[in-house]
Amino acid sequence: MKCEHCAADIAAPDAHEHAGRTLCEDCCLDVLTAPRACDPWAVYSATRTASREKSLTPLQERMLNLFRAEGPLSQERICSGLGISEAEFRDTIAPLRHMELARACKVGGAVRYTRFEDPAGD
Ligand SMILES: [Zn+2]
Repeated sequence: MKCEHCAADIAAPDAHEHAGRTLCEDCCLDVLTAPRACDPWAVYSATRTASREKSLTPLQERMLNLFRAEGPLSQERICSGLGISEAEFRDTIAPLRHMELARACKVGGAVRYTRFEDPAGD
């Protein structure tokens, strides 16, 4: 008997039937545990769980605390407030935006940065 996914030889007791296909144990586990691309909620939940488990660096936490206290801020204000360089700012804001904890917005035509859930700006 052969696995219909990876073509490995499988002994009958190790064969698994999944959605009408004969799969080896490894492929069957892959199929059962992988989030399906056609299921946006599963992918979304997996992404959210991964984000939450990822711990923030002290600088990322300080930046979020600054947003919480003072709202949308310019890059210059954030750099001077936290005592960091422009490069450090970019290294810190990028993962925060990726994790949907911070975002950029425009206030009076100028770019400001704030917490993701902050309604300020457009
Ligand atoms: Zn297989």
